[in-house]
Amino acid sequence: MAKPTFAWLRAMAVAVPFVLSQSARAADEQKAFAIAKILLTPDRAELRRLSAAGYDIAGVNLKSNTADIILQGPRDSLSVMALGLNVLGIRSIDSLEIPDSNYKTPEKVTEIIQNWVRQYPNLAHLESLGKSLNGRDIWGVRITNEASGPAKKPTVLFNAEHHAREVMTVEVVLDTGDYLLSNYGKDPKVTKWVDDSEIWLIPMVNPDGSSQVWSGKNMWRKNNRGNYGVDINRNYPFKWSGCGGSSAFPWAADYHGAAAASEPETQVMMQFIQRTQPVFNISYHSYSEIVIYPYGCDGQHAETRDVVEPIGQAMAESIPSETGDGTYRAGTAWELLYDVDGSDIDWMYHDHHVLAYCIEVTSDQSGFQPPFSHRQSTVESVRPAWQLLLDKLDQSGIRGWVHDKQGHDVTDASVAIKGKNSFSDQPGVWRIKQNGSFHAILNPGNYQVSITVNGKTINRDVTVGDKVASLDIEI
Ligand SMILES: [Zn+2]
Repeated sequence: MAKPTFAWLRAMAVAVPFVLSQSARAADEQKAFAIAKILLTPDRAELRRLSAAGYDIAGVNLKSNTADIILQGPRDSLSVMALGLNVLGIRSIDSLEIPDSNYKTPEKVTEIIQNWVRQYPNLAHLESLGKSLNGRDIWGVRITNEASGPAKKPTVLFNAEHHAREVMTVEVVLDTGDYLLSNYGKDPKVTKWVDDSEIWLIPMVNPDGSSQVWSGKNMWRKNNRGNYGVDINRNYPFKWSGCGGSSAFPWAADYHGAAAASEPETQVMMQFIQRTQPVFNISYHSYSEIVIYPYGCDGQHAETRDVVEPIGQAMAESIPSETGDGTYRAGTAWELLYDVDGSDIDWMYHDHHVLAYCIEVTSDQSGFQPPFSHRQSTVESVRPAWQLLLDKLDQSGIRGWVHDKQGHDVTDASVAIKGKNSFSDQPGVWRIKQNGSFHAILNPGNYQVSITVNGKTINRDVTVGDKVASLDIEI
């Protein structure tokens, strides 16, 4: 079903009565019905004000320096004008309209990934990682050839739809699975990735929210807590409610919940990360054509920013903009947008040293739910970014395996890596998987690796070059 197009209303004098007349259609405050496009000043200070005031910022266009704000009712419309913003126009959206039926419901995602396992039983493994608040399965698919490659494989995670209305993100993750499975044994690069690593896909983190989108609330973003919802991507414990980058007001789009990690969906993701210890993560969102890396609070950079940020920049430069003018851009949330606290990527990076990125796919031309005809060009445009991460597993870094004299995996070791751009201030359990292995992406240089088990520490000096260095540690 094609979305109806609405003319931009240039004059607020026209926009106000229009918006008010639409209010009667909104059966409740959760049914969004208009998007205001706002011209930002060069420092984008308006974004911080809007975010701090609890507005639902749908996306930005950093090239034209505009932001799209969801107006959830006439009060929103009036107060957005009262802020003295430069409103370029207001576009109505039919929030009751069901998205293009080719996008995926939770049931359709389940069917597709179950088919993968039937079609590629040697490559695809499916498991329920846990249940959503309403009892739906949150599915994870592991793609690897168990029979090939190294015994201790590094893990990479690609996940989508923390936010329910961002339906294109599911397509990107499903395309990743399709691409890997259908090209295995045909394309040598794909074959190597699937042989040598465990690629996990979580196509729908928020299936309850998705069900809302498919039942007449197409701007639904959060999970189904109460009748207001919690923003799962503000609910992670690192800096939860920590820097004004989320809201304490349940009706706000970025409501962070009653407590850190209060939501089942957040807990499922955390347990999964703790179990699998990914080297990389991409969390797909929409829209804005940007790549975001840790940290989300004002002025803070990742401890290993010399590793984190160039990879984010390279991914951004690998994705062409939808409108053909340049590429995606990269930065921290506070550099590109506004403060964000309690996000998944910050928690993954800080607590588990996952190199974790958020990619906001599609432009403001597409919005959250463009016609499905935008799907193919979008998923293809993003492929260079996730493929770049899979290639990095073979490049500069250290891959280690800790075992005892009998060759049994040691899983209770802590690993600290000291040297250039390292977490030397936070030695602790670092990327030790349940199979005794760890994998650290590092820039070329000299490092000291310290492995501690039961109070005993072994130090190794390692020189890292362009290729990953293997470390076999008997303890
Ligand atoms: Zn999002």
